[in-house]
Amino acid sequence: MLETEKGSTAAINPFEVALKQLDEAAKLIKLDKGLQEVLANPKRVLTVSLPIRMDNGETQVFTGFRSQHNDARGPYKGGIRYHPQVTIEEVKALSMWMTWKCAIADIPYGGGKGGVICNPKEMSEGELERLTRRYAYAIADIIGPHTDIPAPDVYTGGKEMAWIMDTYSALKGNYVQPEIITGKPIPIGGSLGRNEATGRGLAFTVREAAKKLKVDMKNTTMAVEGFGNAGQFASQFVENQGAKLIAASDSRGGIYNKNGIDVAELRKHKEKTGSVVGFSGANSISNEELLETECTILIPAALENQITAKNASRIKAKIVAEAANGPTTPEADEVLHNNKILVIPDILANGGGVTVSYFEWLQNLRRDYWTEEEVNERLDRNITKAFLDVYHTSEKYGIDMRKASTVLAVNRVVEAIKIRGLWP
Ligand code: NAD
Repeated sequence: MLETEKGSTAAINPFEVALKQLDEAAKLIKLDKGLQEVLANPKRVLTVSLPIRMDNGETQVFTGFRSQHNDARGPYKGGIRYHPQVTIEEVKALSMWMTWKCAIADIPYGGGKGGVICNPKEMSEGELERLTRRYAYAIADIIGPHTDIPAPDVYTGGKEMAWIMDTYSALKGNYVQPEIITGKPIPIGGSLGRNEATGRGLAFTVREAAKKLKVDMKNTTMAVEGFGNAGQFASQFVENQGAKLIAASDSRGGIYNKNGIDVAELRKHKEKTGSVVGFSGANSISNEELLETECTILIPAALENQITAKNASRIKAKIVAEAANGPTTPEADEVLHNNKILVIPDILANGGGVTVSYFEWLQNLRRDYWTEEEVNERLDRNITKAFLDVYHTSEKYGIDMRKASTVLAVNRVVEAIKIRGLWP
């Protein structure tokens, strides 16, 4: 059972969802059973036990994971999530989705993911640093600049990436190795544009989807669930294209104003108060109501399993652009597809983050840094191509965008596995 922050329980195992998606894609492309089995299992899943000295002098033991799904196309790549509800099944699912995401974005990486079961909101800076460094130490032997390159995810960011880089560098040769991790602060080798990349990439996919649906962005409204890193930048860049934000939420609640909410003002409010709640001029709404808001573009940017069989038929948006990973269940997908809602699936819509992570890694390896314009231009080119590749796959097979993205990705990964062959 997966307990969500909303307090409801959902018997949805994200890894089963990922396996079901793989199975559907495998059937469509008539994939060999053995190869499907290869893709159904992560190559390695490590569980680590992390004893941490807490500020009160007591020792607390945390559990962490790193799942390495597939490296046929390149080193494992994927974020590290800190959340009380992290499970091994979730981390495995996320690592598989990373394999697909990197293949769709056509960057030379495989898929990995990490997570630690903890509540960073209830931990001091010192406790967080000790936990992060201990986790880095515990996974140090299976990560590396050419084997597995982590990045931020829910409730981790530049600060944690810097601690991991520092710990890894100290442990492995004691020289600075920025290429071990991406999503770093700029002064230690982060890329310009990385922080905004997921939201910016998502906005490019929304722009392309609007063109296909012949929707004028100037007449659109949007609702954003989860006004965090991905959600805030996504809203900002979609707003720049002319859309009006009418609803936003975070773990503390949601707000609604049909006349529009200024994204920059809301970001300031959230920075000051820690939440979107209480933004002046807006009414409060529940997260459930936000998802069902009458709007053109719905951006789920929080956690998994938010659009389910229970609420899918009440979703009124024309475009659902998934900033979060796994926000829609397979049952809900069917309903959205039947209702002619264009879903830009997570592994396509939020691929901007990992794409700029790849640019960051390239810059680190060469010790040669790009301008922000260069980063954004290359991101636009990559993501637009990825959107069109998926769109054409969906036309070719007569399937929805999610199935098409998995089909495209599985085809690319299988091609690499076949060319490399099995050893021994
Ligand atoms: P974040 O921690 O910055 O933001 C998450 C936001 O979701 C927070 O504002 C939190 O309050 C809110 N939230 C949590 N539970 C909620 C609930 N039940 N209802 C409404 N809001 C809730 O994290 P992020 O980096 O923005 O990641 C969000 C999602 O996007 C995750 O699924 C992550 O895997 C995905 N993603 C992020 C990136 C990135 O570069 N940041 C890249 C790819 C995918």
